[in-house]
Amino acid sequence: MMATRNFPALFATLLLTAACTPPERAQAPPGDDDVQAVVIRVASALDGTGGRIGPSDIVVVGNRITGILPRGRGRGRVIDLGEATALPGLIDTHVHLGWHFNREGRTPSPEVEETPEEAVLYGAENGYVTMFSGITTVQSVGSPADRDLRDAFARGFLPGPRVLTSLSPVGAWIGDEAEPYRARVRELKAAGADLIKIFASASIRVGGTPTLSQELLDATCGEANTLGLRTLVHAHGPESARRAALADCTTIEHGALLDRATLELLAEHDMFYDPNIDLVFRNYFENQDRFLGVGNYTEEGFEQMRDAVPVALATFREALTVPGLKIVFGTDALAGAHGRNEQELIYRVEIGGQSAMDAIVSATSVAADSLGMGDEIGTLAVGMRADIVATAGDPSENIRALGSTRFVMIDGLVRRRDY
Ligand SMILES: [Zn+2]
Repeated sequence: MMATRNFPALFATLLLTAACTPPERAQAPPGDDDVQAVVIRVASALDGTGGRIGPSDIVVVGNRITGILPRGRGRGRVIDLGEATALPGLIDTHVHLGWHFNREGRTPSPEVEETPEEAVLYGAENGYVTMFSGITTVQSVGSPADRDLRDAFARGFLPGPRVLTSLSPVGAWIGDEAEPYRARVRELKAAGADLIKIFASASIRVGGTPTLSQELLDATCGEANTLGLRTLVHAHGPESARRAALADCTTIEHGALLDRATLELLAEHDMFYDPNIDLVFRNYFENQDRFLGVGNYTEEGFEQMRDAVPVALATFREALTVPGLKIVFGTDALAGAHGRNEQELIYRVEIGGQSAMDAIVSATSVAADSLGMGDEIGTLAVGMRADIVATAGDPSENIRALGSTRFVMIDGLVRRRDY
């Protein structure tokens, strides 16, 4: 009787506990690491820097990797992933998390009204499917709403990737004077931006010509460097990328039309290069009717993109031969592309000629370095954050294994487990 009478109260307490306690991480009391450690047991692992590890127990306590031991040696709660291969969670350095198809199935436009609540839920969906596919960190560039998504996912209740965001981008619309660009960078920093996104060239749909002078790029990247913010520069043509290198910016995005001399200049300036050579184009073509007629999405623009595909591929192949050029993984994922980010890596390997291991490293340790987080994520090693994914099959042997994610852990939290 007692139990029955108390049940509603007990149930309420449980609900309250469930609602107010952050999701459980593996936690160990001091000096007793075995007690609540989680052991991820796999047939093999890739460390994210090009190294292969044999059958392993990856030990996680809290949100950190505390040990990588021969399989069977780990002590704690075992998650046995059988024949799976573990690797660091993938990092996509260029996505547009909030960009979605609206309730009419089209890219958003002023003609179809949408509430901010609808829009942010689409962003949460995009974050979820991205994370579920094995992308544990994204850099989302171009929307103020990314900040709330970033903070929501970071609270740990809502499953999604770790998000870094530029908030709004910087571009020629600010004007011809340098000081407003510096001021804008300071405003973005104060508003919580993790990095600065700069449009230094026109869209490839209109030729990719430079849109910012050397002086304006110097001002923008210079101010960001002073404040400790990285700069991602949208630059299709060689001249805009050259200016970004001279201005000491961090990363060139797209760069579809770059020549060898410019690629070498990027390497000399220790810049990162984020080519987007497949998914963004193919996604546009697959969903052409959902874009056509909105903004600068015209038939002619789509023709320009079709013409750009072989050019971007040739540029990527050239980039692979440039010594010291740090190529990172970014997809420019927008509406229609979220959650299939790995297809870009498959294309790079199968069509572009990159080795599977190099493609994986570009999406793990090199991408982490480009985010300034190389000592936190992107590598499977003791002391790193527990961002771990596992795939059926070894993607360094067959890159298509990246499409068979079976397990996702972010910051010590299990977000997907298919076994
Ligand atoms: Zn973009």
